[in-house]
Amino acid sequence: MAEQELAFIATNDLCAITRGRGMPLAQLDWEAGCGWVPANLGVGAFGKIVEGSPFDATGDLRLVPDERSLARIDGIPGRPPLTVVLADITRTDGSGWQCCPRTFLRHAIRDLEQETGLEVFGAFEHEFTLVTDEPAEPPMSLQAMLRIEPLGSELVGILAGAGLQPENWLAEYGAHQCEVTVAAAGALAAADRAVLLRDIVRNLARARGQQASFAPLLDPGGVGNGVHVHFSLQDTAGTPVMYDAARPGLLSEAAGSFAAGIIRHARALLAFTAASEVSYLRLVPHRWSVTHAFLGGNNREAMLRLCPTIGIGGRDPAGQLNLEFRAADATGNAWLVMGMLIRAGLEGIRQRLPAPAVMDRPIEEIREDEQRCAGIVRLPASLPEALVALEEDPVVSGWLAPELLQVQRALKLDELRRLEGLDEVEKCRRYAGVY
Ligand code: GLU
Ligand code: MG
Repeated sequence: MAEQELAFIATNDLCAITRGRGMPLAQLDWEAGCGWVPANLGVGAFGKIVEGSPFDATGDLRLVPDERSLARIDGIPGRPPLTVVLADITRTDGSGWQCCPRTFLRHAIRDLEQETGLEVFGAFEHEFTLVTDEPAEPPMSLQAMLRIEPLGSELVGILAGAGLQPENWLAEYGAHQCEVTVAAAGALAAADRAVLLRDIVRNLARARGQQASFAPLLDPGGVGNGVHVHFSLQDTAGTPVMYDAARPGLLSEAAGSFAAGIIRHARALLAFTAASEVSYLRLVPHRWSVTHAFLGGNNREAMLRLCPTIGIGGRDPAGQLNLEFRAADATGNAWLVMGMLIRAGLEGIRQRLPAPAVMDRPIEEIREDEQRCAGIVRLPASLPEALVALEEDPVVSGWLAPELLQVQRALKLDELRRLEGLDEVEKCRRYAGVY
């Protein structure tokens, strides 16, 4: 019998796991999608419905596909092509479900546009590691890249075919660590791409007999896998409005306030951007990650980094300037991460917050009184601390429906309980098995 080409309608949950249902592509119902169940949002990273989830055996929802997200994944060795379409979770009458992470982002985009006439344009930059005991090639080397072949070429081809617009593919600093970047797009498309990319990479590696892991850290002494979220602001005509040569840091007034909003709410945001227990083993000094919330220029340990613009050939910096949020990893839901950054930035614009000071020095060289003056705060050093920071920030928790907050808390407490008593090596191993 001939194979039927499948479609998969998908959401991505609070543990950043893509779940959904498949059907023959020809039968995909674009209007009403497929059935879904509230309790699914209460399934934890380790595969069990967690205690304390507000959802029980009752209730029905729909996964309503968004055609704009359609990606045909073709070219994974030994696997047939698959069409994946990302969905918003709705009630059965089509009205939005208050706990849908993608709807959260869509509403954040809508509110930013309505209140300010601005849009976010962005891209998620992903690092991941191929899990193996073999000796590693030199970091960033051609030899390291060649060793991974044909996986790299296949990956770039599959991403391009799926419409994800791959840009750079490289062997990163860590042993067997890779990085892949895709072109910037509108905020929703950028987050959709992040959702799809992670499973495309994992699946391709699996088809090649390897394991690719996006876990923030694979072993406590190793190099972290970050997710860096690049973003800039545009007006609705697509004109960049990030750059102002007359202002410190070259950030326009709106961009400065947007950045300041993110910094102000960063402690609470981490509960979503660094969503696992081992996320905080990565967020320590001297890992090129982040410990404090501040804006940095030439500083890869800043939470928000002003990315350099290129003047070669007389290129215009205005369309290039973007900020990079470095305190995220792939245990966070990409829609929520982007939605949270937009909500926090919008809050900064509403409050007309002044642009943050640009810090070019390593954080340990910035005296405490200077830090205080510049509004630099220490980020949570653990997941429990981030959960408390979320509770203590009524602005951030006010963006989320009470049930969403409740299920997120239940999921995270369950994760912490399951890992209790294990050493760091084992905790990393458990997360590597999921992410
Ligand atoms: N691997 C680092 C991280 O955990 C980032 C290195 C880089 O700047 O690309 O975020
Ligand atoms: Mg990198």
